Amino acid sequence: MTTFRRAFQSVALLMLSGATIAAELIPDQPHACDACEAWGKPHEPFRIYGDTWYVGGGLTSILITSDRGHVLIDGGLTQTAPQIAANIAKLGFKLEDVKLILNSHTHYDHAGGIAALQRASGAQVAASPASKLALEGGGPTRDDPQFAFGPEHNNFPPVRDVRTIQDGETLRIGDIAITAHFTPGHTPGGTSWTWNDCDGDMCMPFVYADSLNSVSAPGFRFSGDNTHKSRVASFRASIDKVAKLDCSILLTPHPEFMDLDAKLAVRAAQKPGERNPFLGDRQDCKRYAAGARERLDKRVAGERTPQ
Ligand SMILES: [Zn+2]
Repeated sequence: MTTFRRAFQSVALLMLSGATIAAELIPDQPHACDACEAWGKPHEPFRIYGDTWYVGGGLTSILITSDRGHVLIDGGLTQTAPQIAANIAKLGFKLEDVKLILNSHTHYDHAGGIAALQRASGAQVAASPASKLALEGGGPTRDDPQFAFGPEHNNFPPVRDVRTIQDGETLRIGDIAITAHFTPGHTPGGTSWTWNDCDGDMCMPFVYADSLNSVSAPGFRFSGDNTHKSRVASFRASIDKVAKLDCSILLTPHPEFMDLDAKLAVRAAQKPGERNPFLGDRQDCKRYAAGARERLDKRVAGERTPQ
């Protein structure tokens, strides 16, 4: 009996230490930027709806959980990867149960933490062909509107073995089915993601809409120049695509675009049984797209004005 118990205990200890080693996250060098301090602020993780959770800080990271593994979207900055890992643990989930890591777009503020999260979890990373190039290269590709900001500003730790996915492809982990919608414009490989999540039998369509902001490094023209063709038509097509997505819950890479603080304030003041403030009126994606369309139109008009 005692021998058996001792053997059992050592196996249990081994399993425990194994779990600890597997989940240990070793962060990469912190990224320096003007907004990094605000973006790096920790945030309490919370349930958005069903099995979809907010695990980011000042930048959005989304965890979708299932009994047979989890999906994580976006890795924040290099220095926020440990916060994401801690938030996942705080919710009672294991980092090594994250089987798939996805990304909105390949800028340092959403892709910086992915390499460390991949190393610690052993998850597969899947991305559009254009995002795969940037993720594996550790920085935006030449055709990225922000490329000319330069490597020191732009680069992030390279991600290994990124699986290429197709536009419209649905990826499955357990009972999670998440579909990729390529929405190039802000970056060449930008991707929006959709899935359904249920609270009891109330299932809601989620949209994680990528950034649709027409911002660039100085000198880049969305309307084209002698180095590249106009991006305006394809950018508009991405905006139209997001506008048409079935959208009960809109999530965005920068939390202010989904009014995170306002929704949490509503929730904090609620009594049990009141409507979840993250549930929109199905017009949120349309409104989000309309804002992006207006900014792109302004930007293109500005590019027409001689400097
Ligand atoms: Zn960006």
